[in-house]
Amino acid sequence: MKGYRVCTIACAYLVVALTPATSGMSVAPLLPEIERHIVEAKTDYDRGEFGAARAHAQAVLVGDEITYDVSFVSTSEREQASCRKSLKAAFTTWERELMGTLRFREVPRDEHGRISIVFKPSVRMGAEEVAGFTNWSRRITMDGDKWIDTSFHADMQLRTRDLDFNAMSFEAMRHEGCHEIGHVLGLDDSPHHGDLMGPLEIAHPVNGPTALEASSVRNLRDEARRINDDAQSQDSGKL
Ligand SMILES: [Zn+2]
Repeated sequence: MKGYRVCTIACAYLVVALTPATSGMSVAPLLPEIERHIVEAKTDYDRGEFGAARAHAQAVLVGDEITYDVSFVSTSEREQASCRKSLKAAFTTWERELMGTLRFREVPRDEHGRISIVFKPSVRMGAEEVAGFTNWSRRITMDGDKWIDTSFHADMQLRTRDLDFNAMSFEAMRHEGCHEIGHVLGLDDSPHHGDLMGPLEIAHPVNGPTALEASSVRNLRDEARRINDDAQSQDSGKL
């Protein structure tokens, strides 16, 4: 299972941004949906539509705490422990990269976290075996020009066995988890081996985002937070 795709995104945003690897590249590929939200946040802010600007900024941020629940299909207790360990490591990696500005918290399944994670021996998209995939939705509720709510939910599937049905290593599963969280945070797939968002090589998983991938998410979130905060103070100034 060398170099197979980590995931296929089961939604309209399947297009892989084939950003050329030029030396001047300073941003990792972002999901088109996320780019659209940040552009709309800026445009709405410039137009003085502060409620809409906040709605789109929040769609990028998805809050400062994201809850998740975990379940297992055909996975032994021993394997479950190793799944949890790799998942925890993946979340901790991103929390560290984001300097503690975003936290992930597990909740019991019946409380329905904003990310529902299922571990299973094999994950397929159509006929293709993939390491995992995430299907998500961001929904904005407005009342006229007043922002009411921006909701976020993701379903994530992560595989526990490779194509030979051997248990995936801790490192490979951490790569899977980190990659899928990267999508939640707005990163698109990368064609480059060695990138977190690139293909998973079972024998050479990466241990987290590259410096560019991490700084791209930090910059994206900083910008969304700034627009949100400015729009909020403008909005309250209008009252
Ligand atoms: Zn992916």
